[in-house]
Parts: sequence; structure tokens; C-alpha cells
Amino acid sequence: MAPLMVLLPSLGMAHISSEAVSGRVALIGQPLKRRHSEIMHNAAFDHFGVESRYELRETPVSELPDFFAEVRQGGWLGFQVTAPHKQAVIEFVDSITTAAEAIGAVNSGAVLPDGSLEGFNTDAAGFAAALTEDLGATIESSRIVVAGAGGAARAVVWALLTGGADQVVIGNRQPQRAEALASDFADLGQVIGVDLQSAAFEEALGDADIAVNATTVGMTTDTMAFDPGLLPGSTHVFDLVYVPMETPLVARARSLDLRVRNGLDMLVRQAEIAFERWTGITGSASVMRAALESWMAASPESRSSERT
Ligand code: NAP
Repeated sequence: MAPLMVLLPSLGMAHISSEAVSGRVALIGQPLKRRHSEIMHNAAFDHFGVESRYELRETPVSELPDFFAEVRQGGWLGFQVTAPHKQAVIEFVDSITTAAEAIGAVNSGAVLPDGSLEGFNTDAAGFAAALTEDLGATIESSRIVVAGAGGAARAVVWALLTGGADQVVIGNRQPQRAEALASDFADLGQVIGVDLQSAAFEEALGDADIAVNATTVGMTTDTMAFDPGLLPGSTHVFDLVYVPMETPLVARARSLDLRVRNGLDMLVRQAEIAFERWTGITGSASVMRAALESWMAASPESRSSERT
């Protein structure tokens, strides 16, 4: 059957498969402390009339085989994965995407039409979409600084290099982690790893088109990974942290009239990508964002900086 195009008044054109989509989705990890994904996906399932529920499934590593056996029995659209299972799940799926393989982490999976399981990673594409579509930055030919060399930075740096960045300078508190990350992706473009506190990183800040915070600084501490006062006035600043929404970095960048967005955009964009993989429905970001913002405004738990 051919797909239908339907016009949703509040959202513009959305693409909906004419075949009824239904099935379960669960987030697995341990401990599960955040409900942001559950709020976004269930709002989108409701809005688009998809018969599905997004469940939080606290899953110790010893229960991964049982979880995947259950998914393979049928009735599932897919799953999402958080710490500490993003590498461990790779052995339980049948294939993974090129991005997930390069990043070395699976944070989502889909049940394909033949019943096989494909692992994918939404962080890189979600970051790129948020950076370009929400912040309005251009990755191609840009000079970019990234603070951080953990799991999120790996997805960010991969997205920037495959997006055609002119140069990426990674600054990290433990410089050897930045050097290792740069070395892993050296084939993809011009990338170096340095100490976050070094003159080399400060120099890169002074010449940056885009500056990204991919550390936990601002979430776990009331400080900034770098000083936006060192950036040119034209720099786009993106902070991956979304709890709190207004980090010291975001506040300072805003006070300097720099263009800046926080990690909520990435959270919404990566959810939109997973939702589209499971349902074929595009354009869910505005529904998800509205649900998330009203839940965050009403729920103190959503603003807890405790890490997941
Ligand atoms: P991670 O793997 O634990 O890495 C943490 C990073 O922060 C490392 O580079 C670490 O440096 C650095 N760091 C921690 N404390 C620091 C300090 N006091 N000074 C300087 N650097 C410090 O964490 P992750 O998974 O990459 O997550 C990083 C951040 O991104 C978190 O805030 C997370 O919530 C956010 N995130 C957001 C999204 C989104 O959708 N918006 C998605 C993924 C992640 P060392 O290597 O030197 O320890």
C-alpha cells in the first residue's frame, strides 16, 4: 500500500505510513532515573494515534538475554538503551548502523520487517539536527571546538567530522582521552586532542565558528568548561547539558549576545529520529518538545541534576 501524506494543522505536513503501526518500546538501563524520553515518546504516540507505550524497564546486565528474547517473540517496535548497556547490547542485535559502529555505542534499536533487530545511535544525528536546525549553525567548513572526550563527545565529534567540519579541536580535562578520541577519528578529517586548560585550546576558542560543551560541567558543578568571553562574537555555542536548562555557560554566552542553545534541543531531535525509525512518522519534534517543557515546568524530579 502506498504511504499517505496527511496534513496536521498544528504541525504542518507529516508523513504517516498507511499501515497501522503498533507495538511496544522500552528503555533499558540501570538505574533509570530520568523520564524525559518516556514523556516525549508517549506524547508523540498519543498525538499521532500510534498504539504503543514507552516503558521504563530497569534491567541489570544479567537480564539482557531475557529482554532480547522477549523482544524477538514479537509485538515490539524497538527499544532504547542507556547506561551501562550501550556497548553490551551490541552482541544481542543482528546488525548495527555505520554510525553506531563508529561511535561504538547503541542507544536505540528497531525491529525490522523481517523480525531482525538493528541497533542504531541517535546522538550524532540528533546533535547535528539540533546544531543546524535549532541553533542555525553550519557544520561544513567550520572551525569547531569541543570540550569533553566522553561518550557524548564521541558522537558529537563523529557528527562534526562526517558533516564536513574544517577542523575540530577537542579539549579534555584528561588530555590523553582527547588525544585518543582524535586518533580514533583521524581518518575522517582534521582533528586534534589537547588539554582543556591549555594555550592551544584557548587559541582554538579565539578562532571558533562553533563551540560545544560535551562535558558534564554545568550539570554536576556550577562552573563552565570554557569561557565564552574568549570566543568571537559570531560563534555559535551549544551546551549538551539540559539539567539545568540555564547552565552558567548558557547564561554567560547569552549575556555576551552569542547564539546559544542547550541540550534540550538534542534530546528532542534524537527522540524524533528514533520515533521516525519505529513508526515512519516524521515531524514529531514540536509535539515532543511541548510535552517535555510542560512536564519539566511541573515536575521538580525532571530538573534533578542526578546523573543517569
Ligand atoms: P561521560 O562519558 O561521563 O564524560 C564526561 C566528560 O565530562 C568527560 O570528558 C570528563 O572529563 C568531563 N568532565 C567531568 N567533570 C569535569 C570537570 N570537573 N572539569 C572538566 N571536565 C569534566 O559523560 P557523557 O555521557 O559524555 O555526557 C556528557 C554530558 O552530555 C552530560 O551532561 C550528559 O547529560 C550530556 N548529554 C546530553 C545529551 C542530549 O541529548 N542533550 C546526550 C548525551 C549526553 P575527563 O575525561 O577528564 O573525566
